[in-house]
Amino acid sequence: PLDKDDLGRSTWGFLHTMAAYFPDKPTIEQAQNMCDFFQIFAEHYPCEPCAKDFAEDITKNPPKTKSSQALSQWLCERHNTVNIKLGKPEFDCSKVFERWRDGWAD
Ligand code: FAD
Repeated sequence: PLDKDDLGRSTWGFLHTMAAYFPDKPTIEQAQNMCDFFQIFAEHYPCEPCAKDFAEDITKNPPKTKSSQALSQWLCERHNTVNIKLGKPEFDCSKVFERWRDGWAD
């Protein structure tokens, strides 16, 4: 089985990549489905305390599904909420496309 940290790393990789490749101009249906996805994800994420806190956080801060940019920033903020809770450094959300879509410039 995956432990909590491996599960978390893999899941964040999936979620940030999904947000990075969300359309720039989603249809109403795509936007609604993405909201539904996060609700269901939060209900079934297989780490109980993680899922509970994440569900509370997205109730207070619902998904922003206007564009890939908006969704990626929103998700970066949600990940930072978890980082703060775990005493990890906050990620600079202006760099989210560099990290998860375009690759770091070198
Ligand atoms: P991770 O936090 O897994 O991050 C992976 C990579 O993402 C980093 O190396 C960095 O390059 C990048 N990154 C970091 N922050 C951001 C950001 N804000 N935006 C974009 N990219 C970023 N663990 C617990 O112990 N308790 C919990 O309650 C808990 N809740 C979780 C809730 C969810 C929804 C998820 C998906 C995971 C949760 N985890 C929780 C796991 C935890 O967040 C980490 O995944 C785990 O501790 C491994 O951390 P890591 O240091 O390897 O990096």
